[in-house]
Amino acid sequence: MDKNKSKLKQEIIYWSKRLYEKGMSPSTSGNISVRYKDNFLVSASGTCLNDLSESEIILIDKEGQPLDKSKSKPTSEKIMHIGIYNQRKDINAIIHCHCPILTSFAVAGIEMNKAILPDFGLLFKKVQLVPYFCPSTKKLATAVKSVFKTDNVALLKNHGVILGAEDLKTAYYRLECLRAHAETYIYSKILGTPKIISKKSIEEIEKIYKK
Ligand SMILES: [Zn+2]
Repeated sequence: MDKNKSKLKQEIIYWSKRLYEKGMSPSTSGNISVRYKDNFLVSASGTCLNDLSESEIILIDKEGQPLDKSKSKPTSEKIMHIGIYNQRKDINAIIHCHCPILTSFAVAGIEMNKAILPDFGLLFKKVQLVPYFCPSTKKLATAVKSVFKTDNVALLKNHGVILGAEDLKTAYYRLECLRAHAETYIYSKILGTPKIISKKSIEEIEKIYKK
């Protein structure tokens, strides 16, 4: 195996463990992928992200066909990843998980569009809700692809969340940031009424970050 491929597999293993340890990917749910040259490395089907080995990260082509010899099969949700990569050349890493806190919004049918913290306004502004379609189907992949025309993240109704970024580290931290936002929103709602940051305040912080 060439050095780059092995290094990327190690990166996937590292961030998968972080995802599991943070409770964002329970049991055998969730999958991770990265762009590798003209193809993609994806986690295997039915594997807990905490226990991923290099042989459980499989190289697939643009049609989702495995290019690696492995006893494991690529995740059945691979078409959702491929659809995004084929449309967005700036996205090189994708995390899909069933993070309970974020999935709660998707189950309640609540779009995340309230900036209660500056980083949410800065990084996301809104997180759209994709209607429910059976996981691993082309219908779901098409609906997700449509949201990713403009956005880098989507909530999947009664299912989970999917987020893409320029690299895996960025994708992980954005997801963790989104989870923290969701958690803070829920707690603040228990305590009272969450107060939203004004659009003007978000623009103010955008100016500071751009400098
Ligand atoms: Zn899923």
